[in-house]
Amino acid sequence: MTSSPEEESGSTADLDTAFGRLKDAWKQHQGLSYAQRMACLKALLTWVRKHKEELAETISADFGHRSREETLLAEVFTVVDEIRHTRSHLAEWMEEQPRPVSMTFKPGTAKVVWQPLGVVGVIAPWNYPFQLAILPMVAAISAGCRVLVKPSELAPRTAELFARMVGEVLPPDVAQVVTGGVEVSAAFSALPFDHLFFTGSTSVGRHVMRAAADNLTPVTLELGGKSPAIVHPSFPMARAAERIMAGKLFNAGQTCIAPDYVLVTRDQRDALVDQLVAAVGRAYPKLVDNPDYTAIINERHHARLQHAIQDARDKGARVVEVNPANETFDPQRRKLPPTLVLDGTDDMIVLQDEIFGPVLPVVAVDDIEAAIAYVNDRPRPLALYYFDWNSRRCDAMIQRTWSGGVCLNDTILHFSQLELPFGGVGPSGMGAYHGWYGFRTFSHEKGVFRQARVNGTKLISPPYGKLVNRALKVMIG
Ligand code: NAD
Repeated sequence: MTSSPEEESGSTADLDTAFGRLKDAWKQHQGLSYAQRMACLKALLTWVRKHKEELAETISADFGHRSREETLLAEVFTVVDEIRHTRSHLAEWMEEQPRPVSMTFKPGTAKVVWQPLGVVGVIAPWNYPFQLAILPMVAAISAGCRVLVKPSELAPRTAELFARMVGEVLPPDVAQVVTGGVEVSAAFSALPFDHLFFTGSTSVGRHVMRAAADNLTPVTLELGGKSPAIVHPSFPMARAAERIMAGKLFNAGQTCIAPDYVLVTRDQRDALVDQLVAAVGRAYPKLVDNPDYTAIINERHHARLQHAIQDARDKGARVVEVNPANETFDPQRRKLPPTLVLDGTDDMIVLQDEIFGPVLPVVAVDDIEAAIAYVNDRPRPLALYYFDWNSRRCDAMIQRTWSGGVCLNDTILHFSQLELPFGGVGPSGMGAYHGWYGFRTFSHEKGVFRQARVNGTKLISPPYGKLVNRALKVMIG
């Protein structure tokens, strides 16, 4: 008899035990010292570098097939880069920040002190199953928190490997991992954490925030959405097409910041489509047996994507399947050819829901103004891509549209910038992390005012008389 992943591993009892252990440690020792944080981060760095090939194999087994290089780029390099950056800046981030005090309150002094928030929770999705579990944990540890992580049940082998890593290299009173299905996740989000960091879909994000609200637990929500790519007519179409397809087909489109659809002016549409097709052929001369091309995570998602394509066809769209070597796609292997959808309409699934696969609607608009209106008429996306060498127009695009982040003249690379906040806005999320922003997310920014021995409080204290009124005249003006 086979059992579901929920039955195989993890339960709500394990969850309570792990949470209790971290809470007890917090009660006894509170947060982590600088030396403890640095040691944990170093141990993680060493483990990740040593186990990179095991990670690539394990994640590939979860996906059916995941390109080794994609894993090394997105789940190993990104993590190594983040940990190194954190280690080299942590001492500076932890420093108290003196703040200026206005004339009225001098000679008192003010400062901001960074305190770890406490015991925090991290819920991760399956699409980058290692990176999206470890990066928030790294941020939490950098801030000195104790952390409980729930990896995705849809990548169970990676979840087990992640749990093994944490067990091997981190003290049990610093980090714990619980595995299991939706039942465990739901119970997890109801725990009275000091902060809850969730990465996943917008719909589940609503449940998480509702559950957290009962405990007044603050949340960071890293959600999804439909991230547009906009191509200005003056931009070289071949170059735009190459970079759009690179971002779209990385992990076979199963990326929260993958360009979801393209907006292009009507007169340039066919030229762009030709270049998109050509770009696929250059990057992936064949698909089925190409180790560079990743499979769809499971049957449900494979069927969901096929259904969305069929829905577009049924409703009158022109569907262009890009299959450079004319291969036969065996549904068992769950590779899906890159598919362009032209002449789509708003009632089609591909133009309503986040696609999260190698399907790309190309939407023709009259001009760039119409593209801006199209984006602003829809829920605020996680990312926006704009291809234009003109800096003035780029600045206007940044100012006039709302998205979590922007990448100009390329796709997805803003994610890898260690000095930029990564997060959504509105339905694509709230809060941010990466580098200092992660440290800040898991820290309490405690404002501290220190009164001086000699000070002017007498002037504003009762019994109020002439003196306070004279002082008020100066203070108010
Ligand atoms: P999901 O929302 O289905 O699941 C994410 C996690 O939430 C899983 O660990 C799951 O166990 C848990 N979960 C499920 N139901 C829950 C509940 N009721 N309460 C609490 N937790 C629950 O998302 P997914 O399918 O794993 O990932 C894909 C989605 O994640 C896409 O929408 C994508 O855009 C988004 N995403 C966002 C980012 C980002 O950084 N903003 C990164 C990756 C993925």
